[in-house]
Amino acid sequence: MDEQQGPRERGARAEEARQVAARLHAEGVSGVLLTWVDNAGITRVKGVPVRRLEHAAAWGVGASPVFDTFLVDDSATRSRFLGGPDGDLRLHPDLDRAVPLAAQPGWAWAPADRYTQEGEPHPGCQRGFARRMAERAREWGLEFRCAFEVEWVAARAGGPAEEPDHPTQGPAYGMERMIDLSDCLRDLLRALDDQGVAVHQVHPEYAPGQYELSVAAEDPVAAADTCVLVRQTVRAVSARHGLRVSFAPAVEAGTVGNGGHLHLSPWRGARNLCHGGAGPHGLTSEAEAFLAGVLEELPALLAVGAPGPGSPLRLVPSHWAGVYQCWGRENREAALRLVTGSRGEESSAANAEVKCFDGAANPYLVTGAVIAAGLAGLAAGRTLPPEVHGDPATWPEGRLEQLGVRRLPGTVAESLAHFRRSALLREAMGEVLHDVLCAVRQAETELFAGSPPEQVVAATRWRY
Ligand code: GLU
Ligand code: MG
Repeated sequence: MDEQQGPRERGARAEEARQVAARLHAEGVSGVLLTWVDNAGITRVKGVPVRRLEHAAAWGVGASPVFDTFLVDDSATRSRFLGGPDGDLRLHPDLDRAVPLAAQPGWAWAPADRYTQEGEPHPGCQRGFARRMAERAREWGLEFRCAFEVEWVAARAGGPAEEPDHPTQGPAYGMERMIDLSDCLRDLLRALDDQGVAVHQVHPEYAPGQYELSVAAEDPVAAADTCVLVRQTVRAVSARHGLRVSFAPAVEAGTVGNGGHLHLSPWRGARNLCHGGAGPHGLTSEAEAFLAGVLEELPALLAVGAPGPGSPLRLVPSHWAGVYQCWGRENREAALRLVTGSRGEESSAANAEVKCFDGAANPYLVTGAVIAAGLAGLAAGRTLPPEVHGDPATWPEGRLEQLGVRRLPGTVAESLAHFRRSALLREAMGEVLHDVLCAVRQAETELFAGSPPEQVVAATRWRY
């Protein structure tokens, strides 16, 4: 739907939905799942029979705005503008994205935009925010190509809830892990292929039972949609193989967590601005200014990208989680890793990776907020500080200060303080969305105040 003009004309939407529903029905679909991601990072859903899709597209599906104030444990808080039992919103499926779900036979999925009953965009709609920021970039003549990496830990379903019962004891990045989950991972590739997701890679990760899947870059909203689709597909395929999965930032205290890294590159027409410029490693001045803006805003962005009660437990130096506010070419300890690509492929492959983000983040908020911060850097003509090589955690005392490299906030309370003060993100998100995010972060912080890490991990492990 066109965010600027409200819902498109009802008749046209109904007609499009009639055609989509007929196609889905012919493919054996009985129901369509309409999802949005809340401010706690949890994908919420309403389902409609496929015969009702036409009505849903024309009039939307009712959903309470109270979901905007939900916390990770399903309790709710209140914000200045949102919360409480009153009011209703309308979920409008994005029919362009509607697709049958390979691992949930008979079901299709479509991401939803949220509107008021009066047909105005809901100011708390996270997907609408991502779209607005993509449009703002277009006013600069820029298009973004984005992709989320999805990491998860697999465990045997029915195992003890207190700890993941890993279905493989194979070593990190080890072939044994691919063999142990061979059928499951094959079915995952098939399912994603059937659903039109262009997978680039799947591999075992560092932590026990951990895997990662990466996909092709798309526009910012599509990349966030794909992140949602990939995660629910991983979950559904795994369930068919007797496995449960966790995308939580911290799944077991003391080990490497699940990242949710964002890759992105600004393009002007057919030109990737991360390549062929006069700046460091071929960055154009525009890409450099954009990335400098992102780097500068990272302490506040962390409240969006690593927002969960367990997120700080993942942000440990020397764990490739990017906990230092610095950048470096292919530096996995820098929050901003510049990826230049192989010789000959740079013009399409060059991009930047924001490594400090995790699986508790709402991907729509992440793409929107990162673009907002980068555009502010562009407007201010920022330049990047000196590049950082190696792991700052191993540096001799005093070197961090000498080079002006800071560690990112180590608690959500700290990143929330930066986020509250961020005039840039408040303006970009709008008062309603910014305020409710502050309320959710604050309430989750209070929920787990004084809880030891093991308790935070146990309470959130199976929530994402
Ligand atoms: N699992 C790591 C994290 O917490 C990332 C590993 C990688 O570089 O892919 O972000
Ligand atoms: Mg990884």
